[in-house]
Amino acid sequence: MDVVDKLDILSRDAQYDLSCACGTKAKEEHRTRGSGGSWIYPVTVASGGSGIMLKTLLSNACTSDCRYCPLREESDTRRTSLTPDEIASFFINFLSHKPIIGIFLSSGIIGSAEYTMDRLIASAEILRYRYHYRGYIHIKIIPGASIEAINRAMQLASAVSLNIETPGINHFSKLTHKKDYMKDIIEPLKYISQMSQKGSPFQKVHTTSQFIVGASDESDKEILSYSYNMYDHLKFDRLYFSAYQGGLGDPTIPGEIKKREIDQLPFSLSHTSKEDYVITREHRLYQADFLFRQYNFSYDDLVFGKEGNLDLSKDPKEVWATKHQEFFPVSLKKGSKEELLRVPGIGPLTAQKIVNMRKNTPLSDIYQLNLPRSLYSKAKKYIIL
Ligand code: SF4
Repeated sequence: MDVVDKLDILSRDAQYDLSCACGTKAKEEHRTRGSGGSWIYPVTVASGGSGIMLKTLLSNACTSDCRYCPLREESDTRRTSLTPDEIASFFINFLSHKPIIGIFLSSGIIGSAEYTMDRLIASAEILRYRYHYRGYIHIKIIPGASIEAINRAMQLASAVSLNIETPGINHFSKLTHKKDYMKDIIEPLKYISQMSQKGSPFQKVHTTSQFIVGASDESDKEILSYSYNMYDHLKFDRLYFSAYQGGLGDPTIPGEIKKREIDQLPFSLSHTSKEDYVITREHRLYQADFLFRQYNFSYDDLVFGKEGNLDLSKDPKEVWATKHQEFFPVSLKKGSKEELLRVPGIGPLTAQKIVNMRKNTPLSDIYQLNLPRSLYSKAKKYIIL
């Protein structure tokens, strides 16, 4: 196979790893590749901006056993690998024809974490030192990577990610027997956190991680409790949620059993189609995540159902508002930015706009705010002028 044939396979296999900060605006947007079946993906990087990125695995020949993953060692799939030279020269050539914001380098585990990290690091070194590329490089940290390899990756990368996969060791042990949750995942995550905090050597490197949602029988409550701690204590920049959609993993994992149960339901779920169930769950988790990051919500503010899951039929902020009627109505004239942010339909930009506007012009009419009609109809029962 030539490099293009290999990339066709390897970039397709990279599509479910969202930790390069892929966009979450449209449900499926982050799962699609660029037009023309190329190897580029729409992304929103952890620091904010958006664009398209070349994203690939260096190898899909993985020796691990993650039971939800189509690339696990026992799977019968076509395997191939790129050398560091091949990917680096391809990327530089590609960049001269197409304006893209960077490269996301990941890989299946090629025998050992150390060997795989060596290849990822070698690819980034060629880009930085041979081609003097100064743009965005995201390096995936392989579970079980040594401190030395993590340090080297953080010296070279703009962002690094190590996927936590599940909230806790119990769920993890249902999905893999070859990886050690504490040693291969949690300890390196803590180290990455320590090295990227303010005043640390790699404070400019963005840090992200990802949960696989629904491969085990974890609840939203468990995922969001881990997420909140990763933001609050470990200061990760972004977390991602990748819905396990079934059909690709070991038939005995909880996610496959759940899929069969949903497939057998005689009716469509009221809020969504059966097919959309896991995607809707992923979407609600992202909404809760936004509440942590941009709306000053804490984990204790979230409302879960009896089984510890978010309400699939409503935005979690609206669920909070329905449960906290005593908080409303919020005055548009006097409410603080924090209070305005609790109003369903009012986001950070609108809250700031209201605060700025009232400094200069006394608010006498809601229409002065020029809110979109959909936003106004969502917010109106929670606000007062
Ligand atoms: S380490 Fe696990 S998730 Fe990653 S490619 Fe290998 S089997 Fe798949």
